[in-house]
Amino acid sequence: MLTYIDSHAHYDAEQFDPDRAELLEALHKGGVRNIVNIGCTLERSQFSIDLAEKFPFIYAAVGIHPEDAADTPSDYLEKIRKMAENEKVVAVGEIGLDYHFEGFDKELQMRFFEEQLDFAEEKNLPVVIHSRDATEDTMRILGKRGKINGVMHCFSGSAETAKQVLALGMNISFTGVLTFKNARKAVEALEVVPLDRLMLETDCPYMAPEPNRGKRCDSGMIVNVIEKIAELKGVTPELVAEKTMENTLKLFSRMK
Ligand SMILES: [Zn+2]
Repeated sequence: MLTYIDSHAHYDAEQFDPDRAELLEALHKGGVRNIVNIGCTLERSQFSIDLAEKFPFIYAAVGIHPEDAADTPSDYLEKIRKMAENEKVVAVGEIGLDYHFEGFDKELQMRFFEEQLDFAEEKNLPVVIHSRDATEDTMRILGKRGKINGVMHCFSGSAETAKQVLALGMNISFTGVLTFKNARKAVEALEVVPLDRLMLETDCPYMAPEPNRGKRCDSGMIVNVIEKIAELKGVTPELVAEKTMENTLKLFSRMK
């Protein structure tokens, strides 16, 4: 049995309302060593902490997703600060930029991104970064800070961008997208990411890998991603599981 970590999940999502507790226990017994539940709003960050307090193998990240910035009160950072005092909070995230859907407020997203980067730095916490259709601005904001202690999640950029992310000292994390038939770009990016900088995630309930594409995703499906990476890198699935676990524990150093 493979043992592995899901470094980015959303078990607060309503898709898990019918069977959340049973599912999480079963996943843990089935090889999922740890799960990091990622915050997107104040409420969902608190939900992540509540989950982490209920299940010893779950940890939390707290932060405001760029798409949620517009609905977040301006004093949010005080609340994030309070939440981050909880010892099961291992990172600030997910934070970043998302220009995918019409009507986004670029200036506001950038302000939230930079404020939370500052906060993470001050607290010495790693960051989980979300960037969609915003590579240029994301890389500019990160680049002016020099080194970044964090992970670029659900990586969808080019091999060239992957190299820049690695040069900042960050890890890169892939989802089930890697298994999709049209995943050429992700596969090319994976080629430049060494095993000691790689992390795994589901981003569940979204992004279910093949052969479950389109279904509700859960952490158990990481096995499909592990097998794909092993095949592409010419190593064993065990090695992929082990190295990604090591990398995650190193980055999220509050995890046990
Ligand atoms: Zn996510």
